[in-house]
Amino acid sequence: MNFEVPCPCGHKFAVTAGDAGTEVRCSCGRPLVIPDLPVLRERYQRTEPDAPAARGDLDPVSTPRFAWMFVIACGIIPMLTVGGLIPTFLGVTGAVGCVAISRKEAWSVVSRVALCTCITGACWALFLAVYYPLLLLWLQPPPKPRPNPALHRTAIK
Ligand SMILES: [Zn+2]
Repeated sequence: MNFEVPCPCGHKFAVTAGDAGTEVRCSCGRPLVIPDLPVLRERYQRTEPDAPAARGDLDPVSTPRFAWMFVIACGIIPMLTVGGLIPTFLGVTGAVGCVAISRKEAWSVVSRVALCTCITGACWALFLAVYYPLLLLWLQPPPKPRPNPALHRTAIK
């Protein structure tokens, strides 16, 4: 789906749904804010014979750029642990969920980003809940062996 957003100088920017809410700089030097998707659809949609409405939801939707940020944030989880069932599950679920949400063009970019942040945060929270004790063990130097009274007793026997 393509849109044309005009700059006050007359230059027209060809943008996609994924650019909604971002800022571009025109060749004239003006910063140009690409409006959110509902506004783009309403005002700047290029009139093309193959209107997306006719094709319905089967229209392949491009993944917005911000989605990759969350995919990476989720993907780091299994990378940190070099695999493992739980981290891989969390990472993949989070990444897939964020991509799916980021493609919901009916929702505003802000709410999609907020939802993706929640998903990524939840994945990290779950991951840390499971791995925090292990992480602490891994980060700390091995504790000095303390005299164990139980051992002494058995040794004396
Ligand atoms: Zn311009």
